[in-house]
Amino acid sequence: MTVLVAGGAGYIGSHVCKMLRERGYDVVVIDNLSHGYKSFTRYGEFVLGDISDENLLDLVFKTYKIDAVMHFCAYIEVGESVVDPNKYYQNNVSNTLTLLNSMLKHDVKYFIFSSTAAVYGMPQRIPIKEDDPKMPINPYGKSKYMVEQILDDFDRAYGLKSIRFRYFNAAGADESLEIGEAHEPETHLIPLILDAALSVRDSIKIFGTDYETKDGTCIRDFVHVNDLADAHIKGLEYLISEKKTDYFNLGSGSGFSVREVIEKVKEVTNVDFKVEEVDRRPGDPAYLIADNTKARKILGWEPKYDLEKIIQTAWNWHKVLRKK
Ligand code: UDP
Repeated sequence: MTVLVAGGAGYIGSHVCKMLRERGYDVVVIDNLSHGYKSFTRYGEFVLGDISDENLLDLVFKTYKIDAVMHFCAYIEVGESVVDPNKYYQNNVSNTLTLLNSMLKHDVKYFIFSSTAAVYGMPQRIPIKEDDPKMPINPYGKSKYMVEQILDDFDRAYGLKSIRFRYFNAAGADESLEIGEAHEPETHLIPLILDAALSVRDSIKIFGTDYETKDGTCIRDFVHVNDLADAHIKGLEYLISEKKTDYFNLGSGSGFSVREVIEKVKEVTNVDFKVEEVDRRPGDPAYLIADNTKARKILGWEPKYDLEKIIQTAWNWHKVLRKK
């Protein structure tokens, strides 16, 4: 069975490729390397290019006998999406349509899509269940929700079966130290704290200490990237056996505050560093915690990494990344 992984040179995509290989799937990666890394594509055939390129997609589908597509190429920065929504709708929606059309043309009917907890906007209850209102508050979240809706219509009209995974806070790295989180620019909490621990940054800034939470800082649900990868493969197996379009939250089901995460990093790394308290970052909900019952029940998914293991694996990788 051959899986085309669009965006397989990126953080989550590369972890999925590695696990697919380990579980006996053949992997073809298409990635334009705008944010990914060539060295992350070692788990399959690599095609350099963009999913907006219909001719290239034609060639890929003709060259390899693709059975399913997993799609990770998206812009992911909320703030940037507000300033430059066109970039987000163009890539995350329009280019995804090009990929879907190419699939239909070549009769490939299984699709796994990286969605996000941002589709829920400011959640009305915690933990968040899949059927809770979807009211994204920025173009990034809207672009993901648009594709989710397109996928419902594509199932009804064309029989294209898909799973949409709504990620909470992906973190951690594979124990091989071959791949890990390396965004440029980095905006995510754990790698930024690790940079402070390695003195790559002077401090870690806490965005807001006046939230209605136990210690005033935001609460997030961190889920290990290999737990996400495992869910993708379980999702693929489900699609093939059940042929049913569905969506799932992927989170650990537990929440930790920004302060707790900083303390845990200090404990794991045994390094002290400066912590600054600054204003809230616009658009951050106080709480984001997944109800992951549906993925557990239907896919048999069981996240294995707790916060300490997430931070430990992230730290191991981060030292390699920063060559320290
Ligand atoms: N955060 C922070 N300082 C930083 C980066 C992030 O306090 O330098 C906070 C952010 O406000 C949010 C949480 O950490 O409450 C997680 O942010 P991240 O950008 O990692 O993920 P998000 O929840 O936005 O997907």
